[in-house]
Amino acid sequence: MIDTHCHLSDKRFDKDRPQVFDRMRHAGVTHAIEIAYGPGIWERAFALAAQHPNLFLAVGVHPSEAGRVPMDALATLRDHARHPRVVAIGETGIDYYRDNAPPEVQERWFRAQITLADEVGLPVVIHQRSALEPVMAILEEMRPAAGGVLHCFDQDAATAARADAIGFKLGLGGVLTYGHEALDDAVRTAPEHLLMLETDSPYLEPEPRSLRRNEPALLTRVAQRLCALRGWTPAEAVSITRRNARELFRLPIAAEPAATESA
Ligand SMILES: [Zn+2]
Repeated sequence: MIDTHCHLSDKRFDKDRPQVFDRMRHAGVTHAIEIAYGPGIWERAFALAAQHPNLFLAVGVHPSEAGRVPMDALATLRDHARHPRVVAIGETGIDYYRDNAPPEVQERWFRAQITLADEVGLPVVIHQRSALEPVMAILEEMRPAAGGVLHCFDQDAATAARADAIGFKLGLGGVLTYGHEALDDAVRTAPEHLLMLETDSPYLEPEPRSLRRNEPALLTRVAQRLCALRGWTPAEAVSITRRNARELFRLPIAAEPAATESA
């Protein structure tokens, strides 16, 4: 499996990060994409990726950071975006749920990152909360050339179809185990090329939410739920979601995990 969205640079992993990577490997999560969502995290994420060859990076400015980051940070972001381990721009988008920067500030950073993604030929990782319509409207207007992913997808089948129409995939994580009917229906009926797995570690632990911190090894819980919804075997879920992640992020990895990788 590939965890397409995590935050392993987070301080909540400072006390046991090596064990987190061990458990990840034992659970069969061969690779992960670390989302470096602001200037305070970019350097830390590059250092972590230097230690872990199975970690790829997305670099961007999260909507919650947009108010604190001056637009001239875009030059540094552009430099980082050209690093060989960087496979996406983001997470970016709009968040009206938290008390964030004003809409126009969030939107300025969002549009700038889509433009940057097109310039460097990378897909975009989208975060939205309480802002589905404005986010979809901007994506449908700007049509990022390399597509992207609606991270933490928790919407219905109609939204999945809109994503597909503009070359976007769906990031399925802990929320899939929370029993939302419209989401279950969307995942049951979506074309299989849309489906990817993610944890958003340390956030959004899948059911039974017993550890109060998410980590990549818990991706197995999401994969189980995906299998139940699609009628897939675990091997099918791994192979389909891995292929989708590999294709979207153009990951330089084998199509099927090697026996040693998943041991
Ligand atoms: Zn995230």
